[in-house]
Amino acid sequence: MSEAAGLFDSHCHLTDAAFREDREAVLVHAARAGVKGLVTIASDVVDAGAALALVRAWGGDSGGERPRMWCSVGVHPHEAAAAGPDALARVHALAGEAEVVALGETGLDYHYDYSPRDVQRRLFEAHLALGTELSLPVVVHARDADEDVAAALRAAPPETRGVLHCFTGGERAFTAAMERGWYVSFSGIASFRSFQVAELLREVPPERLLVETDSPYLAPVPLRGKRNEPAFVRHVAEAVAAHLGEELDTVAARTTANAKRFYGLDHM
Ligand SMILES: [Zn+2]
Repeated sequence: MSEAAGLFDSHCHLTDAAFREDREAVLVHAARAGVKGLVTIASDVVDAGAALALVRAWGGDSGGERPRMWCSVGVHPHEAAAAGPDALARVHALAGEAEVVALGETGLDYHYDYSPRDVQRRLFEAHLALGTELSLPVVVHARDADEDVAAALRAAPPETRGVLHCFTGGERAFTAAMERGWYVSFSGIASFRSFQVAELLREVPPERLLVETDSPYLAPVPLRGKRNEPAFVRHVAEAVAAHLGEELDTVAARTTANAKRFYGLDHM
């Protein structure tokens, strides 16, 4: 891969305990693999504070030693029930910080159902409304909730921007996202043998395609089963390039440009 293109990990969880021992080494490793930028995604309000602190400490221009970093603030659907009544007000307060470039991750997860569905829906709708109010994109986790995710997207104001992250299918949500001009992000799952993902990839307009690791989860082939980390976004981009019949350089350059546009980082 040429040096100029660079990669952008649009979604990872660097605050996760899996990185406690070697977080700085993981960032150096990512930079050496060609990762120029990343967004570390929050799971709840406490995690959002940790993400912000991490980005402030290590996310600035390091002369290429580490990737540039930004973060999101929000409450994952798994944490919706535990979040408490003031969670959204705290998300709102943190969202004004310069290092915060998105809300989330939010959404609906009816596979695990760790939080009651009506609580998940309320909080998801609140994130969408706040994203519109603050002109911030919304990072959406959707699992086994196709119909309700599509309904929430359609009910949101047309100017609401967002991404379906770690996308693996869901026709209604996909159609609603396409109608709204939303982005779609693919993870290491694109490197597993999946005909459905290959087909979906080809349906996403090239200018709205993102790549992510979702690390520490979902390590791509050939590292499946290991702890995932931002450096491995290269394997995701390679898998996407293979599915599309394109060069890695082309996919890297395009998805990096897309991520910057999506997160409002055109000055990077
Ligand atoms: Zn995630």
